[in-house]
Amino acid sequence: LVILGIETSCDETAAAVYDGNRLLSSVIASQSDHVDYGGIVPELASRAHERVIHDTVAAAIRQADVTSDRIDAIAVTEGPGLMGSLLVGLCFAKGLAIQWNKPVIGVNHIDAHIYATFIDEEPELPFVSLVVSGGHTQIFHVARPLQHELMGQTRDDAAGEAFDKIGKLLGLDYPAGPEIDRRAKSGDPAFYDFPRAMMKKGLDFSFSGLKTSVLYYLQKIPEKEREAFLEKHRDHLCASVASAITDVLVNKLQQAVRQTGVKSVIIAGGVSANSMLRDKARKMAEKSGVKLHIPHPRYCTDNAAMIAVTGWFKADQGLFDDLHLKPYARFNWKKSG
Ligand code: ATP
Ligand code: MG
Ligand code: FE
Repeated sequence: LVILGIETSCDETAAAVYDGNRLLSSVIASQSDHVDYGGIVPELASRAHERVIHDTVAAAIRQADVTSDRIDAIAVTEGPGLMGSLLVGLCFAKGLAIQWNKPVIGVNHIDAHIYATFIDEEPELPFVSLVVSGGHTQIFHVARPLQHELMGQTRDDAAGEAFDKIGKLLGLDYPAGPEIDRRAKSGDPAFYDFPRAMMKKGLDFSFSGLKTSVLYYLQKIPEKEREAFLEKHRDHLCASVASAITDVLVNKLQQAVRQTGVKSVIIAGGVSANSMLRDKARKMAEKSGVKLHIPHPRYCTDNAAMIAVTGWFKADQGLFDDLHLKPYARFNWKKSG
């Protein structure tokens, strides 16, 4: 089965082709206009998707060197995400479906972050998966492909959101995650001991307290001295913040491994590109005797390869949709048991 994947849930317009064995192409057009606003502006995002979606999809098909008759289905992100952005991808996918007379497959964006791992590897089931992205922080137990049981999630901010909001406090541009990562490498993680919330209390997360504690920490420095202080210690603060966030993430993941007894673990979503998280998770996996899978950094953040792969898993199970497919901004995973 050859699947065309289309992703437009946030500020990346992306298209990719996957044939069940190999990724044939993956094209991403990132929007940079949001930096000036310190976050994503939904209206700007939708318009930018509309501007580039045709060329992005055309490029993915061209690079895959397939003709439309070889494509069996069009997988598209149905949610969660920005409504206007999702609509652009969904309508484009439906248009292609009508033109080519092929089915569409709605893909959940968070499922897709997990299945990004399958682009280059074949994780053994059952596995536990930690999804850490800009809008989500969740732990799932996955017994069979696409059967996800929620074990824990954030009660407030997502891990990526914490990186971005705290980065803003430290004077960094949006999205701050990648720069905190870069700066942390030359900083001291023990410079300041920021709180690790809910460490031994189940598998739920909370990151808003950390954000507040960084805010209070900075407010204690007289305003006139604050800029100079930040200038001098920014890398140390980045390292200390990254250390607090990644300690919690890996601690919860380890608890989930113990509870379930799985032999493999996946970390996915934009924050899984974080090098401190990758290092700590690797050590935890070694200690716990589990195999750790993390997608290549280019498939950690939003892309369409993960949509095509997840679409392939759905197609393989006969899970096709029709033109009534609707976008959703939010999705509520229910904890079982
Ligand atoms: P969601 O998937 O929940 O809808 P999203 O699609 O916006 O949200 P992703 O694209 O998966 O999120 O990830 C983006 C997030 O990942 C941002 O918050 C960004 O700061 C963070 N991020 C990316 N790279 C790194 C890194 N190396 N270290 C820490 N955070 C990172
Ligand atoms: Mg993005
Ligand atoms: Fe995402």
